[in-house]
Amino acid sequence: MKEIILIKNGELALKGLNRCTFEDIMIKNIKRRLKDLGKVEIRKAQSAIYIEPKEENFDFEEALERVSLIFGIAAFSRACVCEKNMEDILSKSVEYLADTLKNAKTFKVEAKRSDKKFPLKSPEICRELGGVLLSHFHHLKVDVHNPDVTVNVEIRDFSAYVRAEQIQGAGGLPVGTAGTASILISGGIDSPVAAWTMAKRGLRLNAIHFASPPYTSARAELKVKTLLSKVARYSGSINLAIVPFTDIQDEIANNCPEEYFTLIMRRMMMRIAQKIARDSGSLALITGESLGQVASQTLPALVTTDIVTNMPVLRPLIGMDKEEIITISRKIDAFETSILPYEDCCTVFTPKHPKTRPTVELCEKAEEGLDIDRLVEEAIANTEYTFID
Ligand code: ATP
Ligand code: MG
Repeated sequence: MKEIILIKNGELALKGLNRCTFEDIMIKNIKRRLKDLGKVEIRKAQSAIYIEPKEENFDFEEALERVSLIFGIAAFSRACVCEKNMEDILSKSVEYLADTLKNAKTFKVEAKRSDKKFPLKSPEICRELGGVLLSHFHHLKVDVHNPDVTVNVEIRDFSAYVRAEQIQGAGGLPVGTAGTASILISGGIDSPVAAWTMAKRGLRLNAIHFASPPYTSARAELKVKTLLSKVARYSGSINLAIVPFTDIQDEIANNCPEEYFTLIMRRMMMRIAQKIARDSGSLALITGESLGQVASQTLPALVTTDIVTNMPVLRPLIGMDKEEIITISRKIDAFETSILPYEDCCTVFTPKHPKTRPTVELCEKAEEGLDIDRLVEEAIANTEYTFID
């Protein structure tokens, strides 16, 4: 029996004239994500996309798992391909739905006939298939209001399809439809969640990580790469820039008042990040900041870091509680990695009494001893690039 994956688009359907572009980008994303599983044919028709495997040993279960992570998909299901005649639809349905229906007490049939040349109308298809299923599975009863299983039949131009339940998709918009932005990624809980949240709204991601060897270890860097690869399962591949930050931290430690360490570090990160971001085609920066979570994330502190960039800084977690963030972190399978105890460059230099009500003027004064332009240039010149898939 031939099986396909049937995809229902989400918000895509609302995009009017852009719908085609959105669908095409999503189809490209699906193709890219399934590429190594074997040949598939992908067709689109009226807010649905059909994925048909073209190879014997195609890993269908793995394909379903991957499809469940692709943004822009509202719901998906596996469906059985039938010839466009009732005989084939009835016999294949009995066989294809056997396992599902054996475990159900009640069911109903819904039919949709896009091909108006098909001789039976939708209610007639429902009645015939319902009757045949009742005669094969004697324990079943029809319940049109609250059935355990809804059997769907669709008569399309090219084939007929039978399926049982739909599975909820990842939602959001297809990655690439909203442009590109750069996530400032640490090894913590928040920034991978911020990355995922913005990819869900259609952004393609680049990533920037500040590393401070020997204060931070190779394992800390590996942790960041692992976290990005978790995000990449949803967002697709990510270009990662690893920026050496040790010299800058040493200079800050030697030339600036301690209570400003974190703020000046964050201002340096933003200055460097926006240049790298712009060079890699990003239109915005993304951070995992959440209002009031730590001293450097109070509103006055955010003002002092925002002012050094002229790029939009997207902070999707700004209004979320830690618990809400952790829920997403677990959902995307990042949490267990995020809580591994490797040090981050910020934690190494945390001041004992961070400035909580800073002003731009005070920050500028505190960093007077730094040769900012030189430090930014050197860090960018020594940045290394890798690719996370
Ligand atoms: P996270 O859990 O994402 O590490 P956090 O609550 O620990 O966040 P901070 O350490 O103050 O908060 O960092 C705030 C944001 O700054 C992070 O969410 C991230 O976007 C960015 N950031 C922090 N450290 C780094 C780093 N080493 N490299 C790149 N970006 C960083
Ligand atoms: Mg952190």
